[in-house]
Amino acid sequence: MGISENIHAIKSRIPANVKLVAVSKFHSADAIRTAYNAGQYIFGESRMQEICQKHPLLPQDIEWHFIGHLQTNKVKPVIPCTHTIHSVDSGKLLSEIEKHAARIEKRIRCLLEIHIAQEDAKYGFSFDECRKFLSENQWKKCKFAYIGGVMGMASNIEDESQIRKEFKRLKLFFDELKNDRFPEDDRFSEISMGMSGDYMIAVEEGSTMIRVGSSVFGDREY
Ligand SMILES: *Cc1c(COP(=O)(O)O)cnc(C)c1O
Repeated sequence: MGISENIHAIKSRIPANVKLVAVSKFHSADAIRTAYNAGQYIFGESRMQEICQKHPLLPQDIEWHFIGHLQTNKVKPVIPCTHTIHSVDSGKLLSEIEKHAARIEKRIRCLLEIHIAQEDAKYGFSFDECRKFLSENQWKKCKFAYIGGVMGMASNIEDESQIRKEFKRLKLFFDELKNDRFPEDDRFSEISMGMSGDYMIAVEEGSTMIRVGSSVFGDREY
């Protein structure tokens, strides 16, 4: 199957209110254009250089999402290219995003990355770290970087019940934060969870945004 068939197949399986982020990392601008011509307009990238290279080559109404780990020293070039950053996992990173977004007066949607997998945490807040972060006031002072929800990655395993449990936890945690910190804020609305191997489980557990790479583009080109 080709890229456009893949996109139509995925979209036919998920409810209309769940957004598909087509993860185009390691795929060419031509492959992205094919997806765009099939009606896909949200793309996810995980490296600064790659998003900055592709952004000027492609239609300007594409919504680019940064989904990988972002080092603070790489925030500046990412800001002009990016609509949403899925991987905010520290106050330091949020203030760097705010600083560069303010310079060009651009609003950036930020999702809080939460560590939900069994594997050792490389990135992402623990639930408690995230609660603590939101109990402090720093994030409320941001005018351009705003918190639009949470993101998580389930364990990279076969055990479906474990994966489901992790997605359930993230949904419950989202509900807790919504209730405690964002009851009046309609922008806090996204749960980014689900990848090629597990997006149907994620959707059943309340995902609003799935990040799918290989099931859209096939195996990575380089
Ligand atoms: C690469 C990547 C994806 C997509 O992975 P696939 O298994 O190819 O669908 C999703 N989320 C993040 C954070 C990624 O880095």
